[in-house]
Amino acid sequence: MARVLFTCRGGHLALPDKGSVLVGRENGGNLLVNPPREVWERAELTPAELTQWSFLVAAAGQAMLKALPQLESGCLNYWEAGNWALNFEAEPRGPKTAPVHRRVHMHLLGRSRNATDASVRWGEAPKFPDFADRKTWAAQHERLTAEECRKIVSELEQILRSRYGFAAEDISLWEPCNGCGYPMVIAASQLQGRCLECGDQSFGVCYLE
Ligand SMILES: [Zn+2]
Repeated sequence: MARVLFTCRGGHLALPDKGSVLVGRENGGNLLVNPPREVWERAELTPAELTQWSFLVAAAGQAMLKALPQLESGCLNYWEAGNWALNFEAEPRGPKTAPVHRRVHMHLLGRSRNATDASVRWGEAPKFPDFADRKTWAAQHERLTAEECRKIVSELEQILRSRYGFAAEDISLWEPCNGCGYPMVIAASQLQGRCLECGDQSFGVCYLE
């Protein structure tokens, strides 16, 4: 499960798991924008849900461009594909149909002008491996740091309020985890200001570090 950094009425901004990052942080970074409700195809969202999700996608992209120096004069690719979940070898192994096994999730792929990774060279389309090779391929891609994510979430909240008319009640309260520093939505299940990943570790030990 990707970890949720931010939630609003348009859905959720999430950080991919270690080992599932499509673009490493120094090459531009990778975040996910999930709609407010699980659907297999975006037309399944109500017009209002689709509108709010689209606002969140655009605002999150803008926030990455503003917050990340590696995206100076760069851009984003908005990648919604969901192919690997349909692979025969994906769990549960076997033939799959999209309505049952696909879940809409928008990848924000930061595209840096200075990218050194061969799969995201500037001026070329991104290149993805076959399903079987995806873990080896992604193993070297670093996630955006806690500080980068805090900057992005701060910008994101500002943009949702100022440009897209989100009110305080449309945005879930968030704060940095006092273990790992990543932004987290404040919820009753969290322990002493720590995120779910840090919360079940002994004090002072951070799962992410
Ligand atoms: Zn944490």
